[in-house]
Amino acid sequence: MSHIAYVNGRYLPQRHATVHIEDRGYQFADAVYEVTCIWNGRPVDHAGHVKRLARSLSELHIAMPCSPAALTAIMREVVRANRLVKGTVYVQVGRGVAPRNHVFPATAVKPSLVMVAKHGAGPSEALAQAGVKVTVQPDIRWGRVDIKSVGLLPNVLAKQAAGKAKAFEALLVKPDDTVTEASASNAWIVTKDRTVVTHPLSHHILGGITRDTVLRLAMAAGYAVQERPFSLDEALAAKEMFLTGTTTFVLPVVQVDDRPIANGSPGTVALDLRRRYLEFVEALDDRAWAV
Ligand code: PMP
Repeated sequence: MSHIAYVNGRYLPQRHATVHIEDRGYQFADAVYEVTCIWNGRPVDHAGHVKRLARSLSELHIAMPCSPAALTAIMREVVRANRLVKGTVYVQVGRGVAPRNHVFPATAVKPSLVMVAKHGAGPSEALAQAGVKVTVQPDIRWGRVDIKSVGLLPNVLAKQAAGKAKAFEALLVKPDDTVTEASASNAWIVTKDRTVVTHPLSHHILGGITRDTVLRLAMAAGYAVQERPFSLDEALAAKEMFLTGTTTFVLPVVQVDDRPIANGSPGTVALDLRRRYLEFVEALDDRAWAV
């Protein structure tokens, strides 16, 4: 089945879906994006993704390309046209097309809007039950990674280094030894007293939508939760480590380079939060499209 993409007002077979060579997203990474998981045909945390998209755009002074309701209607059509049951929809919004010049176009241009569907969502149960290895990379990104910009080169390089180290992800570490997050997911530890810890919201991490949901699920389950920075040393000595994200859900980490976390098996808290997250996505109904 050919994949259908949405490009600036048209639904096209993906191989015919193209953007202009002077799209500022292409020339300057002057664009932002969202990836939403589709589970049983419904979007996971749709309202949260739309809200973050609006925030990223507003931080960059790019207009929303259309209303949240219109955006939702386009996404529903992309899901329908691709018969997406479990997958992801990638949404990219850019400042638009203009002759190349660093400053914003003098006269307002129409923001560009692209959506691409992909089949397959979440890590396999086998991977989650085994846990994953991560590697460590310096966090060399810019100072506003809370904006979900398509300028992802440092993330790409970190993830590539992870692949080379036969690791699933790269933990990003600042010069002061703070673990900010991972190249495409948020990083968490569980301390010896079973407190669930993740980096606080700031300009130095992406405020993950899955992070928000897992914080809520963890609190509802009665876990002690702290949003505070933690160092790589603290992480290596932690009882558990895990990652969260749209494509990773809740994924236990069992090894950091050649160092096992605790006894090298997935932690009970991580597996419990994964189970709660799966329950949450399984329970979604058509109200999931509300914005
Ligand atoms: N941090 C980074 C750098 C990411 O790319 C992602 C994935 N978009 C996340 C965290 C997790 O965010 P979310 O839960 O919204 O997918």
